[in-house]
This record gives sequence, C-alpha cells and structure tokens, in this order.
Amino acid sequence: PSGSEPAAKIVINLERLQQLPAEKAGPLARYAAAIQSQRGDYNGKVLSIRNEDLRSLAIIYDMSPGELSDQLVDWGVLPPEARVARGIDE
Ligand code: C2E
Ligand code: C2E
Ligand code: C2E
Repeated sequence: PSGSEPAAKIVINLERLQQLPAEKAGPLARYAAAIQSQRGDYNGKVLSIRNEDLRSLAIIYDMSPGELSDQLVDWGVLPPEARVARGIDE
C-alpha cells in the first residue's frame, strides 16, 4: 500500500454487531446490511468492508476513522488487532 493507507483489512463481527443496542450500533448495522444486500452476501458471520467505508462511517459517527475503529474494538465488532494494526490518519 502507498503513503499512509493502512494495510489491515476491516472485518466486522456480524454476530457481535447484532447484540449491541440500536442507539449505538444502528448506523453501522444499517450500513452493513446495505452492503450485504448489494453483494447478496447474507450467510457470513463476518463481513469484510472497504477502507473507504470506514471513512464514510466515521463522518456519520462524527469521529476520526481512528477513533471509530477504536470504538468498534471497544464494542467487540472489530478484533483487538484493529486498534494497533491500523495506521489510518486521524
Ligand atoms: P461495484 O463497486 O461496481 O463493484 C462491482 C464488483 O466488483 C463487485 O460486485 C465485486 O465483485 C468487485 N469488487 C469491487 N471492489 C472490490 C473489492 O475491493 N474487493 C473485492 N473482493 N471485490 C471488489 P459485488 O460484490 O456483487 O458488489 C456489487 C456492488 O455492491 C458494488 O459494485 C458496489 O456498488 C456495492 N458494494 C458491495 N460491497 C460494497 C462495499 O463493501 N462498500 C461499498 N461502498 N459498496 C459495496
Ligand atoms: P479472508 O479474507 O481472510 O477471509 C477468511 C474467512 O472469513 C472467509 O473464508 C469467510 O468465511 C469469512 N469472510 C471474510 N470476509 C467475509 C465477507 O465479507 N462475507 C462473508 N460471508 N464471509 C467473509 P472463505 O470464504 O473460505 O475465504 C478464504 C479466503 O479466500 C479469504 O480469506 C480470502 O483470502 C479469499 N477470498 C474468498 N472470497 C474472496 C473474495 O470474494 N475476494 C477476495 N479478494 N478474496 C476472497
Ligand atoms: P480484498 O478483496 O482482499 O481487496 C483488498 C483491496 O484490494 C481492496 O481494499 C481494494 O483496495 C483493492 N481491490 C480489490 N478488488 C478491487 C476492485 O475490483 N476494484 C478496486 N478499485 N480495488 C480493488 P478495500 O477496498 O479496503 O476492501 C477491503 C475488503 O472488503 C476486500 O478485500 C473485500 O473483502 C471487501 N470488499 C470491498 N468491496 C467489495 C465489493 O464490492 N464486493 C465484495 N464482495 N467485497 C468487497
């Protein structure tokens, strides 16, 4: 990867996402559902999403991409490695 682009792949834990209260996870859950629908990918326990999608989601959550990925680790939606592995610009 070039420049400051992070190499880590964003893999969302869909089972964990379903367990979170809607006021926290609502926007992310709707985004993930839309991606599943566009791909026709409904059977997975996890969903790989685009780096670009994390940036869009960060705008929705009014956070930097780094803050959002930390938040997702805290919720258990991303694995702990995502916290340190990601070098995304704040
Ligand atoms: P699209 O962006 O025009 O992509 C068309 C097809 O190219 C995708 O069909 C997929 O087979 C492939 N493709 C594009 N980018 C990637 C990639 O980074 N990795 C992989 N593995 N394949 C890629 P698919 O999966 O049926 O998706 C259909 C459409 O659904 C996509 O059209 C896009 O508009 C939307 N979509 C699917 N997944 C995502 C996603 O994670 N984020 C966003 N923003 N859109 C998505
Ligand atoms: P990987 O990307 O490390 O994914 C490991 C496993 O996590 C996958 O095993 C699948 O069970 C699950 N997984 C990851 N992302 C998704 C997702 O967005 N949707 C669903 N439903 N499951 C997901 P699997 O399917 O046996 O694939 C093994 C490896 O094969 C993947 O490792 C990846 O390296 C490659 N692969 C499979 N499908 C694709 C694809 O559409 N595009 C690309 N580029 N690689 C793929
Ligand atoms: P991946 O399939 O292993 O792709 C890794 C990276 O290669 C992508 O990171 C993207 O930078 C590039 N790439 C792969 N295929 C394409 C393509 O068709 N067009 C372009 N422009 N770039 C491509 P990115 O975008 O962060 O995506 C991360 C992962 O999210 C992908 O890993 C794949 O598992 C999933 N993904 C993203 N978009 C789609 C999609 O449209 N359909 C499906 N089925 N999976 C997607």
